Amino acid sequence: MTRKDFIAGNWKMHATHLEAIQMVQKLGYRLEEADYDRVDVVVCPPFTALRSVQTVIEADYLPIQLGAQNVHFEEKGAYTGEISPGMLAKLGVGYVIVGHSERRHVFGEDDATVAKKLRAVLAAGMTPILAVGETLEEREADATEDVIGRQLDAGLRGLDTDVVAGLVVAYEPVWAIGTGRTATNEQAAEAIGFLRERIRASFGDAADATRILYGGSVNPGNIAGLMAKRDIDGALVGGASLDPDSFASIVRYWV
Ligand code: PEP
Repeated sequence: MTRKDFIAGNWKMHATHLEAIQMVQKLGYRLEEADYDRVDVVVCPPFTALRSVQTVIEADYLPIQLGAQNVHFEEKGAYTGEISPGMLAKLGVGYVIVGHSERRHVFGEDDATVAKKLRAVLAAGMTPILAVGETLEEREADATEDVIGRQLDAGLRGLDTDVVAGLVVAYEPVWAIGTGRTATNEQAAEAIGFLRERIRASFGDAADATRILYGGSVNPGNIAGLMAKRDIDGALVGGASLDPDSFASIVRYWV
């Protein structure tokens, strides 16, 4: 089973809508048709820039896909400050990150909340990118598999096999996010291999279709080594995705 490469840029709380327009235009100039044939290229700007980025993508016929960084699980109601799945879908958003470590650890989202968000994203016809990952203390306590296995199970429990096949999962060790400290290729491949086998245990061959990314201080210098690992299907990129030159180099990791 071949899985198409998937590289997503998580811009976090960076870029006004005007800056975001420039960023996506510059990225568009740097990528070629053949790059998109090989890689699904996704950008996840802040909510306030989604509409502007979508307009550029449409107007310039860019094969760049749009993602969101977060979502609320209810469709509408008295949830001041929140954004619903339907609002995102209407903007042409195809992917939504759920369970990012900053949502879990800074904003206190637990597995149950992440699971509700994941289902709400699916119900609105979009694809969740389920992020899982252990803290440094958990890794040092040899609890990596317990933690990421639990986070994965909570997110996927009860889903249909064909839905799981279409999901994107991102293994993002918390200690590697925004720290400049990347997991070694072997550490990343080991955790991702574990996640794939965990999916297989519940969903059978769907595990061969689910794309599983690595995230954590990915940059143009380390992406090729990560992508050389059979089980690593792509990357969720934070800091290095803010610079269109470096993000384009990551997308074109084989060049
Ligand atoms: C992320 O935000 O998901 C991430 C991996 O960030 P960084 O690449 O900056 O570590």
